Amino acid sequence: MNIDNLLRKNIKSLKPYSSARNEFSGEAMVFLDANENPFNQPYNRYPDPLQRELKEKIALLKDVMPGQIFLGNGSDEPIDLLIRAFCEPGEDNVVSIDPTYGMYQVAAGINNAEVKKVSLTETFELDVQKLMASTDEKTKLVFLCSPNNPTGNCLSKESVLEVVKNFGGIVVLDEAYIDFAPGKSLLPLMNDYPNLVILQTFSKAWGMAGIRLGMAFAAFEIVSVLNKIKYPYNLNILTQQKAMELIENRDKVEKWVKLLIAEREKMKTLLSDFPFVVKIFSSDANFILVKMHDARGIYEYLKENGVIVRDRSKVHLCEDSLRITIGTSDENEQLLKALKNLI
Ligand SMILES: *Cc1c(COP(=O)(O)O)cnc(C)c1O
Repeated sequence: MNIDNLLRKNIKSLKPYSSARNEFSGEAMVFLDANENPFNQPYNRYPDPLQRELKEKIALLKDVMPGQIFLGNGSDEPIDLLIRAFCEPGEDNVVSIDPTYGMYQVAAGINNAEVKKVSLTETFELDVQKLMASTDEKTKLVFLCSPNNPTGNCLSKESVLEVVKNFGGIVVLDEAYIDFAPGKSLLPLMNDYPNLVILQTFSKAWGMAGIRLGMAFAAFEIVSVLNKIKYPYNLNILTQQKAMELIENRDKVEKWVKLLIAEREKMKTLLSDFPFVVKIFSSDANFILVKMHDARGIYEYLKENGVIVRDRSKVHLCEDSLRITIGTSDENEQLLKALKNLI
């Protein structure tokens, strides 16, 4: 893969904005370079544009090099930046699996890049042949998601790697839920595949959707491109501090994950007893997709009773299905109680 042949011309030749903190990033006695207010420490100062301290910690945690990490305002930021960097508006396209996370399509739409959707099989598996056949010389990115949202299953490692090896552009593998199935991550193989970008996030297992912190892991060349086109100070100080605090206390995250997986399996068993439940798809994430008679009606009924789930019944291959996030044992109990009143 030659990244220069894939990049948009204007991005290739772009000279990025050089901020004060880019031009001088070391320690100094007096900082009079960024027009900051000297009062109200520490929030008066601009954050590190490259989030070096946080990246050091994430690098240790994930066993990658700091230069292989891009940090964004949620995973949504690298999704948008990747499309912006590689897809010439009105000309290039991206390929994505279907069904999957809705943001790939929205980000592509904003950037005027066509999305070619490739259906998963009935069992939500990747059809590599079909996916490869739908790429053409204008396809710059392929979006895969594992565990996939809203289906919950992991795509097989072999099928994902087949795409990575055979596709001449960049494969974006969204692993937002991978902390619930850590053995299935492709991150340990990243160094072997210069066209593979892996997305992870603090929003799910890490319990920090509110601080907006997404991670993209990729070869240095790709990370450099993202750094070049991002907003100079895309991650604020508070987000970086909170993330570092939680990394120090990551035993907490492990406990949450164990508990949520146990709750998920319990919910699968208990939900399968309801007469209107047709099928519960197996999940590697913190949610389950449940096929039921009159999913829309049950969604409305639950809503009226103060329990909100996600109606996916209009989504391709998810007809008559609700996506149910696993909550605390008490929250899950309330869902079950409401459903019991239906029979
Ligand atoms: C929730 C989710 C994300 C998370 O996005 P953030 O912007 O990091 O909160 C990314 N991908 C998928 C598939 C998701 O379901």
